[in-house]
Amino acid sequence: MSGTVSLELKQRIKEAIDIVELVGRVIPLRRQGRLFVGLCPWHDDTHPSLQVNPERQSFKCWVCDIGGDVFTFVMKMEGVSFPEALRILAEQAGIPLTAAVQPGLTGGEKQDLYHAMAWAEGQYHRCLLDSAEAEVARRYLADRGLSPESIRKFRLGFAPAAAAWILSRVGSGSPNAPTLEKLGILVRSSFGPGWYDRFRGRLLFPIRDWQGRPIGFGGRVLPGVDTAQPAKYINSPETPLFAKSRVLYGLDLAKEGIRRTKQVLVMEGYTDCILAHQMGFDNAVAVLGTALGEDHIRILRRWAERIVLVLDGDEAGQRRAAEVLSLFVSHNLDLWILTLPEGLDPCDFLLQKGPEAFARLLETETVDALEHAYRIRTRGIDVRRDIQAASEALEGLLEIVASAPRLREDSPQQRLLREQLLLQRLAEQFRVPEQLVRDRLSEVRQAVRRRAEQAALRRRPASGLAHQTPPTRLDPLERELLMLMVRFPELCSRIAQQFPSEAIQHPWAQQIYWTSCRLAEAGQTPDFHRLLLEFEQPELQNLLVELDEEGLAKDIQDPWALLEELKRCYFRRATQVQALVRSAVPPPELPEPGDEHQWLRQVLERERIRHGLISPTEGGKSSGISQGNGLPD
Ligand SMILES: [Zn+2]
Repeated sequence: MSGTVSLELKQRIKEAIDIVELVGRVIPLRRQGRLFVGLCPWHDDTHPSLQVNPERQSFKCWVCDIGGDVFTFVMKMEGVSFPEALRILAEQAGIPLTAAVQPGLTGGEKQDLYHAMAWAEGQYHRCLLDSAEAEVARRYLADRGLSPESIRKFRLGFAPAAAAWILSRVGSGSPNAPTLEKLGILVRSSFGPGWYDRFRGRLLFPIRDWQGRPIGFGGRVLPGVDTAQPAKYINSPETPLFAKSRVLYGLDLAKEGIRRTKQVLVMEGYTDCILAHQMGFDNAVAVLGTALGEDHIRILRRWAERIVLVLDGDEAGQRRAAEVLSLFVSHNLDLWILTLPEGLDPCDFLLQKGPEAFARLLETETVDALEHAYRIRTRGIDVRRDIQAASEALEGLLEIVASAPRLREDSPQQRLLREQLLLQRLAEQFRVPEQLVRDRLSEVRQAVRRRAEQAALRRRPASGLAHQTPPTRLDPLERELLMLMVRFPELCSRIAQQFPSEAIQHPWAQQIYWTSCRLAEAGQTPDFHRLLLEFEQPELQNLLVELDEEGLAKDIQDPWALLEELKRCYFRRATQVQALVRSAVPPPELPEPGDEHQWLRQVLERERIRHGLISPTEGGKSSGISQGNGLPD
């Protein structure tokens, strides 16, 4: 996906997110000179090793050799890929990129798709309101108790049963058939030329993003109407605008209510959500036929402090107990469950018992996710007497706790604290000593880890390692040269002219070097910030931050003089190497032609150690130039 994300987009996100704020949310930071410092989350840190540089908008742990910008931080912290980190940060920054990360979609094309979607939504909506064919749908909605206001507010629609009704509406100024196909509205017929309506014969629930732009449809069958597919509900397929795991139905209309009440009600059906709004619960949303997932939580946390999952009756509660507990364990999250009585869904409950009864249930019957899972697991068990069944239930719960993904947005301390509270509660509920629960959890956790490792081993391809990492250390001279390039981009073309490209050998260094040269040639300034935008690989980002920080620490007054000095060093060394090669006798036997290279490297390495060509950074902070052992320090 690299390359399809525009630099402007990355730049906008970086401008919107302050790294001190981002890191500070996870790790307590305090100011130390020009930096902020905190305990590193990736090693067992006792004194603050993690440095955050507000001016450079970078972070670095020298112990772990990890560093980079906001994207790298999220990648490392959450264990996600670059596009995922981009998405998370865009979400936090409130920058829409639903289609921006889709390969090959320009801003204009995306706009066209939004327009086409809005056009189709309008066609279906008017059809539901006015057309004779839609009578069956209007009757259904009236039976379900949905008011005309709700139908307008949620812009419900109807797709007539004719094979390609929407095509008959296409005219000048409307989107064309291929565009509607791209949006999943039209499906190409497999029997002949042409298309048919995916949603034909269905009541349509337009699905909008949180900004209120229609991006997809949910379609429900109606009694006695012929459809293309038998399923009761179908949703739009994944399209450049629509990804169902990242969308919540009704969020555009609920977000003010959520902000006001700091609470969100998550329901399972579209009509549940609409009726909740109609009855005054304007903080209700619905999932799109999927379980509540990480992506949903991430979106909802922007507005809600407390999430209440409203489940239809007991069966759903049992089905979802484990997944809900897992989310609860992994997120610093106030996650509550309301199971409706008598197997009613929210829509039926509200219609039969009224909004006051629903509000009362919310007040009195919601339990948090742990309590919910405990109740499900221990149903019909006397935990004080039925030792065997109780220990199995406890075991089951600990298994969920142990398998829950590591918390993404919190620090080790927060995680420990939450785990402690959880274990205390389990100990109380099962009436066993807390230490016992704790010990058992670490055993279960080890077992879970072993299983995961074995699974990973099985997945690994038979031929060697999954990916090879180049040697971590750069040659001192190439490192110094690269540092100069990063700190003083105006030297770039001079360096390219005066040094042969072999001066840069390490693959990562080469990437930075060639990118700088390319940018300079294109008339851009390849400075630190510009280079960070070019790379998505954590290793390269880390190296860039290292070079930048080293350069800053050296406080170089005269980069041109340092460059001259490096040049002298380089050519002196090149001469020495040539002499060495001429004088060295090759070993008597070279089993493979490739080994000559290896042997030469060894000779050079030996010589470098003998001449004391150690890393210039190991000598600590210094400034200016000194004639030392062959390299400026
Ligand atoms: Zn560290």
